[in-house]
Amino acid sequence: MNKFLAGVDVGATQTKVAILDLKGHILLKDNFSTQMHRKNALIDAVSDLLDSLSRRLRLKKRDFLGLGIGVPGLLDFKRGLVFYFINIPAWKNVPLKKLLEKKTGLPTFVDNDVKVMARGEVTYGAGRGYDNVICLTLGTGVGGAVIIDGKMRRGQDLVAGEIGHVPINEKGPRCNCGGIGCIEAYVGREYFLKEVKKDIRRGVRTSVLAISNNRIADITPEMLTKAALGGDRYALNKWREMGEHLGVALTGVVNLLNPELIIIGGGIAGAGDLVFRPLRETLKKRAMAIQGRTAKVVRAKLGNDAGVIGAAELVKINLLKKIS
Ligand SMILES: [Zn+2]
Repeated sequence: MNKFLAGVDVGATQTKVAILDLKGHILLKDNFSTQMHRKNALIDAVSDLLDSLSRRLRLKKRDFLGLGIGVPGLLDFKRGLVFYFINIPAWKNVPLKKLLEKKTGLPTFVDNDVKVMARGEVTYGAGRGYDNVICLTLGTGVGGAVIIDGKMRRGQDLVAGEIGHVPINEKGPRCNCGGIGCIEAYVGREYFLKEVKKDIRRGVRTSVLAISNNRIADITPEMLTKAALGGDRYALNKWREMGEHLGVALTGVVNLLNPELIIIGGGIAGAGDLVFRPLRETLKKRAMAIQGRTAKVVRAKLGNDAGVIGAAELVKINLLKKIS
């Protein structure tokens, strides 16, 4: 009998729910606005949307092998216990696996969103065929996942891979994690935009202001991309700076772990070569010779779907007992 998978990707603003076949093809998907501060509301909304997608495909609960979910937090993937989400106080020690299993009746598997995305990319996307891969997502936060020698690396407390919280400056700005000078405090969406807005309020000359219709509070990274592609000096420089900061952080990662591939995804990766070129240049210039020569930097291939595809893959991995 044909079995199906449910894949869920919880993002800071949107939660995506998809139904997939066992080969990772998405049959149907939809999303809703995430109300992260109310965990029961999130669980109910996932369950309701999955029910409605199932009805449209005429599927019953027994047609599903299970449900996989990626969430933006630190967690114990074995127990499906979320330790915490950095920015959301309501999520402390939440037994997400248990709660979702109770609500949906499906065997449920939970993992960190970037580890899930990495899983999707190495199975079906940019990382196919690679054993040594670092994944990085650039968005509200900077997430990371480390696959070395073909295995997802977890660490003692199962929370390894937080590349966003590698410090690049011992005296830098304070980060939401409590640390100082983390890479996230330079290139995370909110930090990045805060600096841009500050510069513009100080009177820096840039077309970003006109692009935003003079509404400084509404400026987005996409507006900076638009300005930079139009030749705006300030915007070009901001993206270059971001690429260089990332290049420095990744130099440490590359020297330490010797990956073959670095996959970068997330909304801010949409700036493309504006960020990727300075990033690659910095890495080439700074990394140790052997590691630096090997490490290739590429953009994630599955785009917005990586999360649901990787989450569904989680079900297969756990129920068919392949790897970590
Ligand atoms: Zn940090």
